[in-house]
Amino acid sequence: MTAERKCPTCGTNFEHDPASQWRPFCSRRCKLADLGNWMDGVYRFSRPLGVDDLEDDEALLNQLMADAAASRED
Ligand SMILES: [Zn+2]
Repeated sequence: MTAERKCPTCGTNFEHDPASQWRPFCSRRCKLADLGNWMDGVYRFSRPLGVDDLEDDEALLNQLMADAAASRED
């Protein structure tokens, strides 16, 4: 007995094989396409935490520490 499933990527109805390594997608292509979309999203969302921003954070941290040191001297 096989179950018909709708591929989340391409919308094609296909026979769902529980043992398929591509489930719940119809094919490797669709699984990779979905993974690509997911990676795209992660990459976009993670961009604010990129190396440039970590360097900005370090500069900000140094600034805050300098301010703290200066205020202690008052
Ligand atoms: Zn598909």
